[in-house]
This record gives sequence, C-alpha cells and structure tokens, in this order.
Amino acid sequence: MLALFGPLARRTTLRVSVGGIAVGGGAPIVVQAMTNTDTADLAATFEQVRALATAGSELVRVTVNTPAAAAQIAPLRERLDAVGCAVPIIGDFHFNGHKLLQQFPDCAQALAKYRINPGNVGRGEKRDEQFATMIEEACRHGKPVRIGVNWGSLDQDLLARLMDHNARLPQPLSPPSLMREALITSALESAARAEELGLPGDRIVLSCKVSEVQDLIAVYRSLAPRCAYPLHLGLTEAGLGSKGIVASAAALAVLLQEGIGDTIRVSLTPEPNGDRRREVLVAQELLQSLGLRSFAPMVTACPGCGRTTSTHFQELAASIQDWLREQMPRWRGVYPGVEDLRVAVMGCVVNGPGESRLANVGISLPGSGEIPIAPVYVDGQKTIVLKGARIAEEFQAIVAQYVSERFGKSAAPSSQPERH
Ligand code: SF4
Repeated sequence: MLALFGPLARRTTLRVSVGGIAVGGGAPIVVQAMTNTDTADLAATFEQVRALATAGSELVRVTVNTPAAAAQIAPLRERLDAVGCAVPIIGDFHFNGHKLLQQFPDCAQALAKYRINPGNVGRGEKRDEQFATMIEEACRHGKPVRIGVNWGSLDQDLLARLMDHNARLPQPLSPPSLMREALITSALESAARAEELGLPGDRIVLSCKVSEVQDLIAVYRSLAPRCAYPLHLGLTEAGLGSKGIVASAAALAVLLQEGIGDTIRVSLTPEPNGDRRREVLVAQELLQSLGLRSFAPMVTACPGCGRTTSTHFQELAASIQDWLREQMPRWRGVYPGVEDLRVAVMGCVVNGPGESRLANVGISLPGSGEIPIAPVYVDGQKTIVLKGARIAEEFQAIVAQYVSERFGKSAAPSSQPERH
C-alpha cells in the first residue's frame, strides 16, 4: 500500500561500498551518471567526469570497451585525484570485459566497481567461463560489481530455457510477464553464481533496466522482495528532452515512494552538443522533490498568468535559481545545511505574500496594474520593500546575507518556517 503522507520506509538491503560511497543498507540514495566521451580520449573523459562530479554525480560510469580505453583508466584516476576529484569511477564492460580486466590490472584496480551485463558476456560455456573470470577479477581486486541486466540485451539462452519451461505450464505466463521474469531471473541467477564464485553478497548491486515506465515498475516491484542486494534504478533509453525526464520521473518516483531503489541514474539522451550534466540535475531534483534528499536550495515560483504580463518575474526566478546552483560547490563546504534553504519568487499579490512567508526568503513581485514595489519576507516576516531597476541584485544580496547568517559555522540554529 502506498504511504499516505510520504515515502514508505526504505526496503532493507545489504550495504555496498563503492569507492567509499555507501549504496544500500539505508544509506542516502546515490545519484550517478555516465560519460559519453570516448574513454580512450583521456582529456575529454577527464573533463566530463569532473564536470559530472562537480554537478553532484556521486558515482560516474565510463565505457571500457577497448584496450585503448582500459589503458586510460588508471591515468584518469590519477588525474582526477591530482585535482582533488575523488568521485569513484565505475567501468562498464560488455563482450570483452574478462579480457580487459585481466590484461589491464591497473584498470581493474583503479575502478571502484565493475558493471557486468550477463546478456553480453558470451554464449554457452564461454558465457559461464567469461562471467567467472570477471567475478574472479572483482574478488582479486576487492571490488563490487553491478549485475546490470538490460531488456535490449537479455541473455538469449536463458530466455529460451524459460520459454520452454513456460510452454509446459498449465497456465503459462503472458509474453510480457515472461520477459519481465526472464530479466529478474537473469539478475538473480547471475548474482547467485557470483556468490558461489566467492564474491560476497555485500559487493553486489543489481539492476534490471527496461525502457517502458510500467514495465520498470512491475519488474522492480517483483525483484525487490526477492533479494537483499541494493538496487540501481533507471529507465534505460528514456529518451530526449521532456519525454525522457517525464518518463524517468514517473517510473522512478513510484518505486522510490515504495522504498525501492538505492542508487539512480536518469538516462537522458542529450540534445546534440547538449549538457551531459542535465541528467545529474534531473536526478537530484527528482530526489529533492520527493523529499528524499536535498542537494541545492529550491526556488518556489508561481507559473505566472495574465497578471504577469512582463518577463521580469520569470527572469528573476531563473536568475536566482541559477545563481543558487552556481554557489553550491562553494556553499556545500562552508554553509552546512544550506541545501535545505527555500526561496520563493512570486508574480503578484494573489499568492505572493503567502508563499513568500512560507519560504526562508521570499519576494512578491508586482503584477500588472499593481504598485511597482516588491515586499521581501525573511523567515515569514516582511522586512523590506524593494523597488526600481535593481530589484534582482538587491534580492540576491538579501539571500546571500541570509545564507551567511543562517548557515555559517558560527550561526545559531534557527527553525524553518512551518509549511502547511
Ligand atoms: S501568484 Fe499571481 S502571477 Fe503568479 S500565477 Fe498566481 S495569480 Fe498569477
């Protein structure tokens, strides 16, 4: 049953340490992202990993698909460490991971986790042997693995076996149900095999990614009670732009609300030359909107209507939101708790004063036909009225001063305004 007033308690899972970042076992839900550079291009991959980490990705996955890519993993780790970027790097292996991990021990050691897709490690006897080699390398280097099953690369031998079995049942599963069951079986059987090969259960993360919202919800609802491994959530091939964001949010929100999921990735297809960091921002905003984690101060802004005929109010809301995010890399270190700050930018007197009072700092701009003044509220109290051409700058200065006084290390704790 869904919780009436908030997310259900997180499902108890094992806790896996990925390069020092705790995944599962009640740890905060971890945000991760993946690069789209050629890993053999050290400079480009370094820049993108650092950008994703600075944006807030707590784990970053890179493709390790060729000897040239594997050869750059240890140098990548060194370069990141040299600039103080400690984000754990996860290696994504398909088809030749068993060879690369053996041939490049520096790569195997520099990675914090290996992602293994059981559908892409080989066929028949080779499959078992190559899977075993990867697990043995994980054991040798003391690394966790994610057994990441994907709808698009499901183990065909396993699917054939399940189809045969299903055909003999008095009440066979429907084709979609059988596909879902095959994904889950692939993940669980692979995890059991990894444990038989000596990998401890607290070094295994599972995922079963599909591209349709209802399928993802059904698969994880079925998988979660059948294992104690932490679960990585993500809608694979979520898509471009708003479609990818909405589909990912719809699927992940349902599962997270039910206490399912320990780490998430939002797999957006970037626009050509688009900003890869967007997937990090969306993942953070999803968790923050659900009240599961806080990453950056949120701006409450009304949608505007016929009372806001100029763009002034939209510009102020956008500039404050951007400015707050830009401050976060520095603020995180000096203003603990600032990510819980709430700022309101409202368009007129209808809801403006009310929402502004409920924020830590709020401003109610004048709507069309109203007196051109903007009252500012701090912790629910009207403190000053701004007017003129410099309202944005003055409001930003008020927010900066509030943050310094409220979240500076010497600041006395004070309570948040109560929301209703
Ligand atoms: S607060 Fe005012 S401007 Fe904003 S949507 Fe409501 S009525 Fe319109």
